[in-house]
Parts: sequence; structure tokens; C-alpha cells
Amino acid sequence: MTTDFDAAAGGSTPAVFDVLNPATEQLVRTVELTSAEETDAAIARAHAAIARAHAAFGAWRAVAPGDRARLLRRFADTVEADLEHLARLEVTNSGHTIGNARWEAGNVRDVLDYYSATPERLIGRQIPVPGGLNVTFHEPLGVVGVIVPWNFPMPIAGWGFAPALAAGNTVVLKPAELTPLTALRLAELAREAGIPEDVFQVLPGKGGVVGQRFVDHPLVRKIVFTGSTEVGKRIMAGCAAQVKRVTLELGGKNANIVFADADLEKAAATAPYGVFDNAGQDCCARSLILVQQSVHERFMELLEPAVKGVVVGDPGAETTEMGPLISAAHHAKVSSYVTKDTPVAFRGSAPDGPGYWFAPTVVTPASLADPLATDEIFGPVVAVVPFTDEADAIRMANHTDYGLSGSIWTRDAGRAFRVARGVEAGNLSINSHSSVRYWTPFGGFKQSGLGRELGPDAPAAFTETKNVFLSTEE
Ligand code: NAD
Repeated sequence: MTTDFDAAAGGSTPAVFDVLNPATEQLVRTVELTSAEETDAAIARAHAAIARAHAAFGAWRAVAPGDRARLLRRFADTVEADLEHLARLEVTNSGHTIGNARWEAGNVRDVLDYYSATPERLIGRQIPVPGGLNVTFHEPLGVVGVIVPWNFPMPIAGWGFAPALAAGNTVVLKPAELTPLTALRLAELAREAGIPEDVFQVLPGKGGVVGQRFVDHPLVRKIVFTGSTEVGKRIMAGCAAQVKRVTLELGGKNANIVFADADLEKAAATAPYGVFDNAGQDCCARSLILVQQSVHERFMELLEPAVKGVVVGDPGAETTEMGPLISAAHHAKVSSYVTKDTPVAFRGSAPDGPGYWFAPTVVTPASLADPLATDEIFGPVVAVVPFTDEADAIRMANHTDYGLSGSIWTRDAGRAFRVARGVEAGNLSINSHSSVRYWTPFGGFKQSGLGRELGPDAPAAFTETKNVFLSTEE
């Protein structure tokens, strides 16, 4: 995919990237990055950073568990103290609404707090065996490379670095080209909290340069990648060369299934927020609404005022519910799905003038063969398609290579769980649109990813199990 960044960093342009405010198109900050010309220097810098992270690993893993826990809690405290600043930075850099941005910074704090319990609880097992004593250890991997997309810069970074650090690894983190600012600030806050500089390093740069170096470098022992399925496949292939551990969190085309027996008013009132949150730039966006045929017409009547009621505008205003798209290039991509021939049912509103605005849009493709019903548009465009019965709903929800999340609306608890078990996706929500809760595992089926983040088991994904046998024979 060509991004604004590629245009800015290509050819003989200098090694800087202009961060633009997506709501105003005004310059926020110029970040030093890697131009094509500077690639060798950038690779050398990435190598040096990885070498430092490797050198820091021995001391970090040896920090007493209680002290490592305390440092992570202090890191959570510095994030808490800086929460409003971090949130405002994200509003300016990414166009997120201030309400969302506060939640995102708070999520980093909470995830750090949650995994601060890990160092003191990385408990192995004593397994009964003949002739001796057998114990297992959870050994940290070494240097972990975390590669982050632009749509949720703070939380996605935290889901990688918090459990990785807690389990005793050191971390090099590459933010997305378009959204480096909060990650750079988080690195400063880690320092303030007393986490040694080389233990957690943030390296802004191009995916194909800095990110690729993480994949290629033998001292990076695991990649945590969140981003597009296309790049994820390349990363997985690259990791295979070294049997490098990898977690992939990729795209999604998620169904919101509304049965005739559901609370239709609530289903229709909440459906816009299940897809238009973060302007639809959410891998968990419920961008395919499947509605039982018998209530389809009524549902559309209820959906229209709900969509038109979404408050789109200045992301810094407290009452705003949806901001702009991230960039001009992404705006062009989303716009390509809505042409004069597109079956648009109705649209909400969006500001005119500067900024990458796109009004919430409801489309009604004739079948699932239409890309509107299968592509991850990653913008505020939702397709509504009718289904006949339970089996039809499951078949249609599974008619995709993705499998990340989805919602089921029904008053029949048995049906809710039958359908939840039938849909091939990692995160399902009944009579709600929740996907991410840091206490619970998050990740995808099929081409939505590999492995799980968050929840009680995440630290295990940053360790190797070592088995040690001691002979007790005389
Ligand atoms: P992207 O794949 O273009 O980029 C993601 C990151 O990978 C960026 O930091 C980029 O610089 C880096 N990268 C690009 N090429 C690379 C390479 N060759 N080697 C190493 N790193 C490389 O994705 P994006 O456009 O930034 O993000 C949007 C995508 O992310 C969507 O498809 C969305 O569904 C997905 N996403 C998934 C989840 C999830 O948890 N499943 C969460 C958020 C976003």
C-alpha cells in the first residue's frame, strides 16, 4: 500500500517526516526518519539499538521479580500523570476523539498495572518423575521486536511491551510512520519511571527498513506484529528463516448479526458505534451487519436516525463521537469504495473544508460477492445484508478469510451461544460490541492472526518453557 509517508520519504527527500493533523492538515511536528538515501544509516542505528537491547537483557532479567514489578507499576504511574498530555498528543497526531484518546492512554496504564503482577507469579511446575526432581522454568526470550500500526498507536504498543518487559525481555518498538508521537513519549515516561534506556527503546522509521531489521536480526527473538494481513504474511515468512517466534494481529471483516428476536432498538442504536468508532479504522469494526430478513426493513428504519445522529467533527471537542480519517492516502482508499454506482442507503454528516473527513455511510450490497461485504475497508462504511435463519447467519459471517471479532444480538441465550460457537472468530460479543478487555485474550482465527495478546496467558507467549531434571539417585 502506498502511504503519504512513502511519498514524503521517497527519492531524495531528507530524513524527516511531517506529521500532519488529520482534522486540519496542519503541520504538528517534523520527525526524523529514514529516507531512501539514509537507509544504510537507519539500518546501522537499528542494529546498534538491537545490540544495546541484547546487552541490557542479562541485567534486566536478573532484576529481582519484586523490583521489576515495582518499576512497571511506576511506569503505569508516569503514564497516569501524563494521561491528558498523551491523549491530546494522540488527538493531534491521529485525529482520535479526546474521549477515545483518554481511554487509550488509560489502557496503557491499566495494562502495565495488570502485567506488573507477572514477575512475581511466573511460576513453573514441579512434575513427578521417577529417579529425581523435575522442575520447569519460564525463561525470557531476549530482545522482542514490537511493530505497531497507526490506528491505535498507544494500546497496541502496550499490549506488546508490557507483558514482554514483565516476563524479563527487553523491547525495541517501531511505531507506524504516521503516528510516532505517543510512542516516543511513552519511551520518555519509561525512563522517568526508572526503566533503563536500553531495556525499552522506541525506533521510529519505515516498515521496510526498521521493521524489516527486527525480522532479519538474529538477536531479535520474537516479533509482535499488528497491521495488515498482507504485511503480516511477509513478516511470518521472514521469521520462518530463523524459526523466530511471532504473534500476528491482522485485519478483520467482522459481522454484527441481528436476529428477529433481538432488542432491535438497542441493536440499531449501538450498531453505528460498533463500526464507526475511530472512524472505522478498527480491526474489530463490525462493518458487515447481517439482519434477519423478517426485521430487515424495521432495522433499517431504526438505523437511519442512529447513523445520522453520530456526531462527526473536531476530535478535540468533548461531545465529538467520530473524527477524520488518518491521512489523504487513506481517505482516497476508503473513497474508492463509495462511487456513484455504490448502493448507498443513507449517510451521516461530516465537516467540509480541510481535514480527511468521511461521513458515516451505510451500503446495501446485493450479495456477499460484493467487495463492500468482504473487504476490510477500514473506514466508516458499513454493509447491511439480510439473512434467513441461524445456519444462514453463521455461513454468511464465516464467508471471509478473516476471523477476528463479531457481535450477536438475540434474546435467546441458547441461540446466542450456538452462534458464538459457530462463528470462526476470536472475539465475540453478545448483545454488545466489546472486543478488547485487557483481562481477556485477544486475537484472530484464520487470516486475522496467529497467537493471542492480553489476558492472563500473554506473558507465557514471551517465554520459553525450560525443563530441568535433577537425579536423586545415589
Ligand atoms: P501495515 O501492515 O501497513 O503496517 C503496520 C506496521 O508494520 C507499521 O509500523 C509499518 O511500518 C510496519 N511494516 C510495514 N512493512 C513492513 C515490513 N516489510 N517489515 C516490517 N514492518 C513493516 O498496517 P497499517 O496500515 O499501519 O494498519 C492497518 C492494519 O492493521 C489493518 O489491516 C488492521 O486491520 C490491522 N490491525 C489489526 C489489529 C489486530 O489486533 N488484529 C489491530 C489494529 C490494526
